[in-house]
Amino acid sequence: MGNARHVYFVRFEDLPDLLRIGRRTIEGARKRVRKELLRGDYVTDDRTIWIDADLLRRSADQRSYVDVETVTVAIHPEEPACVSCTGHDWHDEIAHSTGGNNVVCPSRCVREGCNLRKIEETRPSRPDNGQPAPTHAIRYERL
Ligand SMILES: [Zn+2]
Repeated sequence: MGNARHVYFVRFEDLPDLLRIGRRTIEGARKRVRKELLRGDYVTDDRTIWIDADLLRRSADQRSYVDVETVTVAIHPEEPACVSCTGHDWHDEIAHSTGGNNVVCPSRCVREGCNLRKIEETRPSRPDNGQPAPTHAIRYERL
C-alpha cells in the first residue's frame, strides 16, 4: 500500500485550481508538495510560520477528489544581524517546559550592544490555528 502510485493533486489556499502533481507514491507526493510550498514568498517577521497544502486523490469513480492528508512546511525567520562583525555569541538561558511536549529554550547574544534573544520551542502551538506545530519554532526578540 505504501508504495502504490496514484495521481495526486494539491490544493493551495490562495490558488483557485488544483495543481496536478502526477503519478507518485505518497512519499513522492509529499516531497513534491513541500518543494512547491517552499517556492513561495513568505513574510515571517521575526518568528516561524507554517504553511499548509492539502494533498488529494481522485475518488474511485474519478468524479471527485478525496483528501489524503495535509502537508506542512515550516518557514523560519532569518536571523537578524549582530552589531558585532564577528556575529552573534549565543549563551543559553534557562529552558522551561510549557506543558505537553513543548520546551522553550531561550538564548541571548552576549555581544556588547546586541541585545538579541533567540527563543526556540520544540513543539509550540501554532498561533494561526492553535494546533500543535509539526516542527520546532524560532523567534527573535530585541531586549
Ligand atoms: Zn549579536
